[in-house]
Amino acid sequence: MSADYYTLLEVGRDASETEITRAYRRMAMRYHPDRNPAPDAAENFKKVTEAWEVLRDPNKRSVYDRLGHDGLKVGRGAGGPGFSGFGSFGDAFEVFMREFGGAGGVFSEGFGQPRRARAGKNIEVSVKVTLEEAAEGARRQQKIRAVRACDTCAGTGSEPGTGTVTCRACRGAGQVRTAHRTALGSFVQVGPCRDCGGKGARLESECAGCEGEGRVRRTDTVSFDLPPGVSSDDYLRIRGRGEAGFRGGPVGDLIVRVEVEPHDRFERDGDDLISDLCVTFSQAALGADVVVPTIHGEAELSVPAGIQSGQALRMRGEGMPRLRREGRGDQAVRVHVWTPKDLDGQQRELLESLAQVEDQPPEGRPVGEASFWDRVKSAFTG
Ligand SMILES: [Zn+2]
Ligand SMILES: [Zn+2]
Repeated sequence: MSADYYTLLEVGRDASETEITRAYRRMAMRYHPDRNPAPDAAENFKKVTEAWEVLRDPNKRSVYDRLGHDGLKVGRGAGGPGFSGFGSFGDAFEVFMREFGGAGGVFSEGFGQPRRARAGKNIEVSVKVTLEEAAEGARRQQKIRAVRACDTCAGTGSEPGTGTVTCRACRGAGQVRTAHRTALGSFVQVGPCRDCGGKGARLESECAGCEGEGRVRRTDTVSFDLPPGVSSDDYLRIRGRGEAGFRGGPVGDLIVRVEVEPHDRFERDGDDLISDLCVTFSQAALGADVVVPTIHGEAELSVPAGIQSGQALRMRGEGMPRLRREGRGDQAVRVHVWTPKDLDGQQRELLESLAQVEDQPPEGRPVGEASFWDRVKSAFTG
């Protein structure tokens, strides 16, 4: 339950803007942690600053007068007069400094907190693989230019064989107190030491390789494995292979986007593959055992007697490996009856004999035949 803003600032509900600002100054002086050692001073400083942020703004104040705290929450994120309070003391302090200090940004790293170690950035690369590589899995070696831990100093920033010395600027405390003049008088502000970044120690001698940064930008050859079954929708996140962290922060990740190149023989549908097979008229009529190429070699396929052109046959387990699972998808083979063009004498004779005894074909689509894509589908599901 939030306290009433007018009560917090100790003003009446009809207080003028000038009265409210004056009241806030008084309260800010009272609760500023540099002047008030009480453990709840920072929290109270935050509360009065929050009250002031609302009451100084005529729009927010009128919403607050009519609807209270809940009214201010309604407009949140919708560009209205919403206000949800400060997340941290640092936010409130920034408001205070903006209004009375005129030195915005000086403390943007947070009040009294040493600068944090930062995680290294992620590196994103895309790799092209053939369908065969996607089926078998592939090892890739890629040249990547990125910020890496310095080899010379192993990321410490310190010239090998040298250590650290106490920071002179903060005498090893890691913090410095700075007097800051504001409209309300001088404040003493405690912040991280800029010379040593809050560590209290400096390198005795900076590494020549990275000028003490601990990191260098360079081109490395990075190798990684693409597991069998990857497809163009996939990306791999390889933990700890991204950019080096800063001041001991964790290493980022390497994100590999996969692009599987189109294949001239196979179409891919998830874990299934689709290919084409031409058979002769007699093979279609009599049936035949044929050998068809698969993504990992070849396989025997029994073409049943009486197959129609365009019908699809399924070969179980001859498709792509399932990514990080057992088993493989299927391969669907679309059968096309091939009609010969240049007949020699004997072929012509035999076909002419056949023509005298063969039946008439049906009109339109062969009886009982579904459309082509229905047949491909039923080859997978049937
Ligand atoms: Zn220092
Ligand atoms: Zn170095």
